[in-house]
Amino acid sequence: KPSATGDAATGADELFGGLLAAGGGFDRGACLSRHESPRYYKRSPFSPSPYLLQKLRDYEARHRRCGPGTPGYAKSVEQLRSGHSSEVMECNYLVGLPYNGLGNRMLSLVASFLYALLTDRVFLVHFPDDFADHFCEPFPGGEGETATTWVLPPDFPVADLWRLGVHSNQSYGNLLAAKKITGDPARETPVSVPPCVYLHLAHDLRGDDERFYCNDDQLVLAKVNWLLLQSDLYFVPSLYAIPEFQDELRWMFPAKESVTHLLARYLLHPSNSVWGMVMRYHHSYLASAAEMIGVQIRMFSWASIPVDDMYKQVMACSSQERILPDTDGGDAPAPARTNASGGGATTAILVTSLQAEYYERLKGRYYEHAATASGAGGGRRWVGVFQPSHEEKQEMGKRAHNQKALAEIYLLSFADVLLTSGMSTFGYMSSALAGLRPAMLLTAFNHKVPRTPCVRAVSMEPCFHKPPPAAATCQGKLAVSENVTRHIKRCEDLAGGLKLF
Ligand code: GDP
Repeated sequence: KPSATGDAATGADELFGGLLAAGGGFDRGACLSRHESPRYYKRSPFSPSPYLLQKLRDYEARHRRCGPGTPGYAKSVEQLRSGHSSEVMECNYLVGLPYNGLGNRMLSLVASFLYALLTDRVFLVHFPDDFADHFCEPFPGGEGETATTWVLPPDFPVADLWRLGVHSNQSYGNLLAAKKITGDPARETPVSVPPCVYLHLAHDLRGDDERFYCNDDQLVLAKVNWLLLQSDLYFVPSLYAIPEFQDELRWMFPAKESVTHLLARYLLHPSNSVWGMVMRYHHSYLASAAEMIGVQIRMFSWASIPVDDMYKQVMACSSQERILPDTDGGDAPAPARTNASGGGATTAILVTSLQAEYYERLKGRYYEHAATASGAGGGRRWVGVFQPSHEEKQEMGKRAHNQKALAEIYLLSFADVLLTSGMSTFGYMSSALAGLRPAMLLTAFNHKVPRTPCVRAVSMEPCFHKPPPAAATCQGKLAVSENVTRHIKRCEDLAGGLKLF
């Protein structure tokens, strides 16, 4: 259960209850957000379990021992270059290949890191150019001259990582189909399996790729020295269905809802370039407000509706879930002034959207009409509406565009209340980082305005948009225990998706 002891209540806890490693190994100046962000989040509803803390500290020791620049890394890379497998390697690796939009990439990083924790692997990430300088080194010892890193070194022997896809010969699904690997743990040894296997866990995966979610296949994959994992999805709910991982997951996350909230605050720290944008905007426009409401509006091309309809949906959602301040309709006399400066509380509404229209309309609304004060006392309520950027359309491959999006995800995560767009990974990341269950706008599937404007999310966990169909994928062997299904639900915003709660 969430406890009420947030940073606001306890004073900012620089280390998020021990989630971040204390002491040496970090250069403060190299990553300001790691030390400063705890002051800005309004809520920290879950404290990390002692088991999770131990897992993270063990992970950090493994990364120092096996990360790039260590003899263990050199040995594994050499083995990979030789093309042969060896009996048992001291260090095993998971290389994350996050792709698609920024929110997708962040979810993929979180899910892949959790998979590395569950399988005792070292987590390295391939950052394409448009994704460079977004995040700090997350592990102690990752900064400075002699440091190790989570960035996959450029001389990694598998060439053209960007070419990997559903058709690649070295994908687990294709190796199974070509009978180059059996998927039977009794028949495979570390020597019989390839030194490197590619896991295609993206939205276009096929039946054999989904064998990843089967227990026996996990026992086979455990024997592979290098796994390359490409994903744009939050596949964690299906890790819960794998018996091999269930105890660990239960011990790490006694509250299922806390997985992304805790792991994202542990792993993802905006780089100084991104944090600079976040801080400049926050202090210039938002910091003085008593309350901040985040509104994230995402119009997908495949679910587009007219701006008027979307604005109406936002307003209907707001009144259903009591999010935005009401207005008096504009003609009521202003209440008596309480003091010379006008008194009253200020509310900042932060709008993020690729378009400027919603911001313009909301700004007009609170300019033309007075907001009615909430609570007893009946003082005034001043409402400011802000939008950091309106990029007009989603751009692929542009670093500055992605950095702005990242800054906005973090600005939203400092909100007291959130209204987000369903199906949007951008929205999912903001909510999980904020520690809030958002009011989520339902998607206009088939371009039809949904009858119910929005729902309150059952948890702050992201939705897994492409879970494998339950039993068939593991030749009938997958037994999802009741214990697990009690904590996995269909997503509010996508009937075919799964989420933890
Ligand atoms: P999703 O498509 O909503 O799931 O979110 P993603 O983050 O994966 O992809 C959408 C991309 O469009 C983002 O990475 C941004 O580049 C851009 N984008 C979408 N909404 C916004 C927004 O509100 N602000 C900014 N700056 N960019 C946005």
